[in-house]
Amino acid sequence: MSVGIIGAGIAGLTAAYKLQQEGVPVRVLEATSETGGMIRSETVDGFLVEHGPNSLRDTNDLLPEIIDDLELRDHAVEASAVARKRFVVKDGTPVPLPMSPLSFLTTSLLSAKGKLRLLMEPFIGRSNDETETVASFVRRRLGREILDYAVDPFVGGIFAGDPAQLSVRHAFSRLQEMEKEHGSLFRGMIHAARNRSSSSKRSRSIYSFRDGLETLPRAMTDALDASVHLSTPVEALRRDDQRWHVATRDADGATRMHFFDAVISTVPLYRLAAIDFPSDVDLSPLERVPYPPVSVLALGFDRDDVEHPLDGFGMLVPKVEQDFNILGCLFSSTLFPGRAPDGQVLLTTFVGGTRHPKMGLEETSEVRSTVLQDLRQLLGVRGQPNFVRHIQWQRAIPQYTQDHGQVRAVIDRIESRNPGLHLAGNYRSGISVGDAMESGADAAETVLKGMPSLTAS
Ligand SMILES: Cc1cc2nc3c(=O)[nH]c(=O)nc-3n(C[C@H](O)[C@H](O)[C@H](O)COP(=O)(O)OP(=O)(O)OC[C@H]3O[C@@H](n4cnc5c(N)ncnc54)[C@H](O)[C@@H]3O)c2cc1C
Repeated sequence: MSVGIIGAGIAGLTAAYKLQQEGVPVRVLEATSETGGMIRSETVDGFLVEHGPNSLRDTNDLLPEIIDDLELRDHAVEASAVARKRFVVKDGTPVPLPMSPLSFLTTSLLSAKGKLRLLMEPFIGRSNDETETVASFVRRRLGREILDYAVDPFVGGIFAGDPAQLSVRHAFSRLQEMEKEHGSLFRGMIHAARNRSSSSKRSRSIYSFRDGLETLPRAMTDALDASVHLSTPVEALRRDDQRWHVATRDADGATRMHFFDAVISTVPLYRLAAIDFPSDVDLSPLERVPYPPVSVLALGFDRDDVEHPLDGFGMLVPKVEQDFNILGCLFSSTLFPGRAPDGQVLLTTFVGGTRHPKMGLEETSEVRSTVLQDLRQLLGVRGQPNFVRHIQWQRAIPQYTQDHGQVRAVIDRIESRNPGLHLAGNYRSGISVGDAMESGADAAETVLKGMPSLTAS
């Protein structure tokens, strides 16, 4: 008896790890030659480049638990204390984002009118509009300036998305819940701060690992040992009365069948829709979920060639700052130690997303010139970089748009009509690494509950 897991990204690895811990035999089928999915770290010429995610934050208790379990705590590195500071570009200059209520009142990021509007938040009434976008929610509760100079760049930095297209209910459900429960985001935040559990394992800090984020999926893969099959794309799923039949294609082109009692798919939605499986459910809402392209450009410079002190996490560029094309730039060598050789700095810049999808697909030379032009103006970068690494994600992050309710309904229908098939991944309940892990763990738990008789064979 066993469970098949499709995809060895962090969601798939977590599902497999959790099941293995309960003594359930698992087999992970991964299309590419590596595990980790979007999590990939690479060291070249002394620069440690992250292809996808750069940092972790404990969004739940699962991530710290797995890190402890795998004895990775000693390999973890916390973000530097100055990384608490984040810059947002205003009128062509990086301005520190206010981090306390008082600094919101003194910041040059907002006008006096914008600050007054912010102070009115507790007096704004609730809305029952379940289809509200993030932009409309924020404009209504906090005002236009907070949307333009805090939320828009933040959404660009996390989702590579546009607040006018994302659903507040699906992308930032906590905000909507705060409004419903407390009538105000301010009151909700005060309440949350008071109730923060002291027993939780969660740390509020941002962290990574000395050798990069790939340390985590690598350790999980090692713990799973021989049950991970690489270069094994799943092409079709069928089910008879007893088992799931999963067809994969081997490197030599031959089709191979695997048999499982349950299957957890953790592949992105556009890949799921391409797998041949018997479904009387209309899958087109899954195919329509936007995954806009994102280019990541890692550039190394001599420290003296960057005028800005780089004393922060990084810099985000709001859409309203129309002279610039980049979404944002991480000050990677400030954030974590060991990201650049002595005397040099590493800057990781993001281009594309919903804002500039075409730029996300451009060649290295074009991306490089776009990025350099912006960094020269914003950070006072001089000369040419000593190091360049370009990574392109043709389909990066799923956007939780206003149609996401329909997407969730399709997922529920697929699961209810296909007993033993479970879906997990970053499209379910959050796009962070921790969220994707939680969705994998939830799928594993559902399998365990549904199959009490599972035994190793
Ligand atoms: C540029 C970028 C920056 C990011 N920054 C952060 C950050 O700083 N912090 C953070 O928390 N999150 C960040 N994220 C988001 C986070 O990295 C992802 O949401 C998360 O890693 C997704 O994990 P997953 O397992 O759901 O999907 P994936 O990592 O996409 O894994 C899916 C796996 O399925 C495999 N697969 C696909 N089709 C098949 C098939 N037919 N058969 C078998 N296998 C298949 C794929 O090869 C892949 O390995 C970032 C993402 C990007 C792109």
